[in-house]
Amino acid sequence: MEAWKPPPGTGVTTLTAGEHWDIVSGPASMSPPYVSNAFEHVAHILHAAQDQCTWLIPLGGTAAPRTPDPFYWAEISRYIAPLPHGTVIDLPHASRTDAEHDPRWVVAPKDQGSVAYVADPRWLVGDLAVATLHLGRPAERCEACPEPIWPEDRVSVVIPARPSGRVAHLATVHRACAERHDLKTPVTDADWAEVGL
Ligand SMILES: [Zn+2]
Repeated sequence: MEAWKPPPGTGVTTLTAGEHWDIVSGPASMSPPYVSNAFEHVAHILHAAQDQCTWLIPLGGTAAPRTPDPFYWAEISRYIAPLPHGTVIDLPHASRTDAEHDPRWVVAPKDQGSVAYVADPRWLVGDLAVATLHLGRPAERCEACPEPIWPEDRVSVVIPARPSGRVAHLATVHRACAERHDLKTPVTDADWAEVGL
């Protein structure tokens, strides 16, 4: 099957998220770091007037088991996220790449001639993690629940030893998870000794 391409020319039509592709979206400031650093570069749509960058991926591409670990998407979900299905975006046509056009396709100079318009989410998520670093740190994993932890919600706690032999250790969890499971932040020397520090 031939790879998908936008219609020829310099016009603009529309594309509906969830119809043929999922569309992941972030702020326009991601465009330059993505072009500079992406390992597996694909074209993206830059819509400066809407402060938006978008990438097309296969339907369901941000969910398991299409990606090695769905948390990779969760940890950058504050900066870039799939558009809800049914959201309509402007779709620039293939030759609409000049900087004076908005929206337009952004194609890395090395990709001229063999442009990919649909990203493999397994590569894209890693490249977007780098392209979002200027917006803030990625989220951390919570040891008590599957949700990402953003800096204002994080707390270090002692996870007690288990009868199974697992030793006590220091973990990062949500404040709310710490309260729910009655996990304490180490304070005294005895607390720190418990986790071997
Ligand atoms: Zn949690």
